[in-house]
Amino acid sequence: LGALMRGRHVLVTGASSGLGEHFARLLAGCGAAVTVAARRVDRLQALVEDLSVAGAPHARAVALDVTDEGSIRAALAAATGDSAPALDVLVNNAGIAAGEPAMAVKADLFDRIIGTNLRGPWLLSVEAARLWRNAGRPGVILNVASILGLRVGRGVAPYAISKAGVVQMTKALALEWARHGIRVNALCPGYVLTDLNREFFESPAGQKMIERIPMRRLCDPGDLDGPFLLLASSASGMMTGSVLTVDGGHL
Ligand code: NDP
Repeated sequence: LGALMRGRHVLVTGASSGLGEHFARLLAGCGAAVTVAARRVDRLQALVEDLSVAGAPHARAVALDVTDEGSIRAALAAATGDSAPALDVLVNNAGIAAGEPAMAVKADLFDRIIGTNLRGPWLLSVEAARLWRNAGRPGVILNVASILGLRVGRGVAPYAISKAGVVQMTKALALEWARHGIRVNALCPGYVLTDLNREFFESPAGQKMIERIPMRRLCDPGDLDGPFLLLASSASGMMTGSVLTVDGGHL
């Protein structure tokens, strides 16, 4: 699958840590041109240097706050301007989470989670689709949703709601844009240890949750590589509106 990504230009949001950084390294290792985007530009620049030293053909960092429409337009312009290759794939990976019982969630936190996890990917998808439609080019959107977009858990309601929205958004945009040659699919990882949830999974409650996973372990980022490359590449050429779960069995 990796060979299919050679020379493709992929924009990965939320690539300054965790899964986004992992996906960027994976893609660069396959010979893809990678643009990494997030708010912490210093971390992106360090990643780009790393990728360049490792021989990645084209790696660039762009500042992006997915909650800000102006920032989204500027980031897409920076990713596709100058001598950059035309964009082939958008990976909507940036996301935030918070563990709070529903009654304790303030409106501001709810707005931030929905704004980052759902409104951000929506705006980015629409802007990228416009670029592709206007250029008469096909495009691929891969949304990183979550198993919590399909099933619920206690204390994560706004996050689960945002990811369920991403799943429905994936299907709705796939339906509208198939005729433009734009495919939209979602990956729903189970739990992967990252900055997003480290504190929880290192707690006794987190350890208990791991015991309830049928395969009795968290996902490694590498467990996502095959499904990620499938959805990002032409190997999934007849797939759109699909939702792929990688969770070690149903929780
Ligand atoms: P991390 O916290 O490690 O990474 C989150 C990334 O999102 C960071 O690079 C952060 O960069 C970026 N980000 C957050 N807010 C914004 C913003 N407003 N604008 C741009 N970038 C932003 O978490 P993960 O790697 O775990 O999460 C990546 C994705 O995977 C998320 O969508 C998450 O919901 C999803 N996921 C994670 C699972 C897990 O168990 N870890 C399971 C299922 C899904 P910066 O702060 O520099 O902007």
